[in-house]
Amino acid sequence: MKYQYHLSFSLIVCLAGSLSAAFHGDPPDANHPWAVHDDNRPQPPRVEPAPVVGGAPSDAVVLFDGSEASLGNWVHLRPDDRRRADWIVKDGALQCERGAGYIASKEAFGDCQLHVEWMAPPVIEKKTGQKRGNSGVFLMGMIEVQVLDNYNNPSYPDGSAGAVYGVMPPAANSLRGPGEWQSCDIIFRRPIVRDGVVLDAGSLTVLINGVVVQDSTPLEGGGGSKHRQALDRVFPDQGRLRLQDHGNPVRYRNIWYRPLRPRSVDGGTDGRLDEATTLAKRAEIATDVRARAADQNGMQQTLTLLDAYMYDLDSSAWVECDRQVVAYVKQLKALSAEDITQRQQEVLSLHKALSYLQRYDLIASDYQPQRALGEIAVSQAWLKPQ
Ligand code: MG
Repeated sequence: MKYQYHLSFSLIVCLAGSLSAAFHGDPPDANHPWAVHDDNRPQPPRVEPAPVVGGAPSDAVVLFDGSEASLGNWVHLRPDDRRRADWIVKDGALQCERGAGYIASKEAFGDCQLHVEWMAPPVIEKKTGQKRGNSGVFLMGMIEVQVLDNYNNPSYPDGSAGAVYGVMPPAANSLRGPGEWQSCDIIFRRPIVRDGVVLDAGSLTVLINGVVVQDSTPLEGGGGSKHRQALDRVFPDQGRLRLQDHGNPVRYRNIWYRPLRPRSVDGGTDGRLDEATTLAKRAEIATDVRARAADQNGMQQTLTLLDAYMYDLDSSAWVECDRQVVAYVKQLKALSAEDITQRQQEVLSLHKALSYLQRYDLIASDYQPQRALGEIAVSQAWLKPQ
């Protein structure tokens, strides 16, 4: 028998004060460990944004903040005896000096949100194409997002500023002129290859001065100068960020990154998962929810145990759920009609929870205690038969 609720479930929970349970949308399935709109799901961590867009948020790792001290976050890759110059800090910027070679962050990292600002030399060099304001941001030292003064200076498109060098031209040229700061935001997912199988080709999203120039561009093995790479080229989990010395005094400032949450192929548990991972995660969630139930009592404990059952459908766990529900209904039936009126929120909360489990065929549609709860609710005019 179906019933019409006079009160929404959220209102019932509200009326019940301490009574709550997650039962919301479609339940966990073979590829989703949580239900839709699941309150048991962890809240996103709080990140304090910077006062101004482009500034480092609270969880960012700052690699260069304009100070001499932050130059200590970097190392020259060219050995001292072969280096004709060093990168310098000048006017709050990290500037390439010709002959200095690449500089690399001491910090190694993988998937990230990276913010970099760069400036081509303010005095236009009497050079064209790739020889004007050339540098580069190398993710993990392996994949170059091109830095180039392309303002009124065309070059081959897959080597233009914002290109995944040798792989994909930028979708637009949104550069400011030389001598002006360019804002560059990068979202990087490294390729993941295991046992010769490409699990994820990796991608780059790039915004230059707020304009999308790369949109989840597949990395095709990472590209490079004049040659394509094999799609199954193996990348490490982490690598150091490199900035290129291409012989031009390009400047950088405000460099920071944030690690990204892992993809499901990389141990992450958000989004669609494979069946084995889903099963393991569902068991873990059920254990956590039951641990919460252990500190509760009465109807709240029953609701929490029913909630936990949704994740793993553990038959031995159902025995305890059933025991508590049966005991509650038996006790209810022994009360006077007047005393039963005091149990409205409990009865409706339990009836709603069991209805949810029945709706998704997680418990029997003819579960007798639920039938009894429905009859009591109708007799009290809390529910109307439909
Ligand atoms: Mg370059």
